[in-house]
Amino acid sequence: MAIITKEEYSGFIKEQAKRLGFLACGIAKAEFLEREAPRLETWLENGYHGKMQYMENHFDKRLDPTLLVDGAKSVISLSYNYFPEKTQKAEEYKISKYAYGQDYHHVIKDKLKELLQLINDEIGEVSGRCFVDSAPVLERAWAEKSGLGWNGKHSLLIQKQQGSFFFLAELIIDLELTYDHPFTTDHCGECTRCIDACPTQAILPDNTVDGSKCISYLTIELKDAIPTNFKDKTEGWMFGCDVCQDVCPWNRFSKPHSEPLFSPHENLLDMKARDWQELTQETFSKVFKKSAVKRTKFSGLQRNIKFIQE
Ligand code: SF4
Ligand code: SF4
Repeated sequence: MAIITKEEYSGFIKEQAKRLGFLACGIAKAEFLEREAPRLETWLENGYHGKMQYMENHFDKRLDPTLLVDGAKSVISLSYNYFPEKTQKAEEYKISKYAYGQDYHHVIKDKLKELLQLINDEIGEVSGRCFVDSAPVLERAWAEKSGLGWNGKHSLLIQKQQGSFFFLAELIIDLELTYDHPFTTDHCGECTRCIDACPTQAILPDNTVDGSKCISYLTIELKDAIPTNFKDKTEGWMFGCDVCQDVCPWNRFSKPHSEPLFSPHENLLDMKARDWQELTQETFSKVFKKSAVKRTKFSGLQRNIKFIQE
């Protein structure tokens, strides 16, 4: 039987998202993000984006999806689990869990494209764009607005049943759908574990993160030398950092993912401190063949290893 109502369209999309392996799917009306505008402005004014100059671009587009996608009506927010069953052995040289397997940008974008195709096949001609961790979309704000969860004090999205070890992605389309209620309850309560544990004091009391101090920024985004005032503060993180998520009590609900493409290279988890210190271009290319770690290139990872070592 053909589906013809907004409710049926929305139900179909959520059902297909689940079938494609997404953890959760919520839908919000594509409109100007009024609440976020002053917050983003202050964040940029304070220089919390460090040298990520691109964050200063497209200010209006970031806040208004109708400027990003012609005729945009709905923002579909999706989450995809990356919590691994096993973690690295070498405590001295760690990479963030999200980067263990193949680059999530490609893995998830393929799934989004498939979802858009299914929408076109079943509902009719629908135009849209897929976003995976793309700078012009305020993904956590959309996820909260779509009812997926709340933004914790570490500014990452938390889902009650799953914690926070998942990617967020969006599909912005020109089809009107039924919209979910925004998530309005903050379940962090009095907890300050992430603030207390952050090695660089990057999490501020007003629930924002000074990106310029975050180890993820220092080890991935920053192209210059890592400032020496962070010496002995990176706690062995050489690509990204999971500290604020590892200490979050909601992550006791994390369940291992079942995405084969996120499985690490067979050598990665067993590599010892010595293997990292003696890492060669050849091993780097082999172990991180399709991984997001390639973003730093061999030279970038070497810089981070030396920073920990010296
Ligand atoms: S990722 Fe690490 S450095 Fe960044 S805010 Fe979280 S604990 Fe702090
Ligand atoms: S560690 Fe505590 S304060 Fe931080 S995000 Fe988790 S629940 Fe919220």
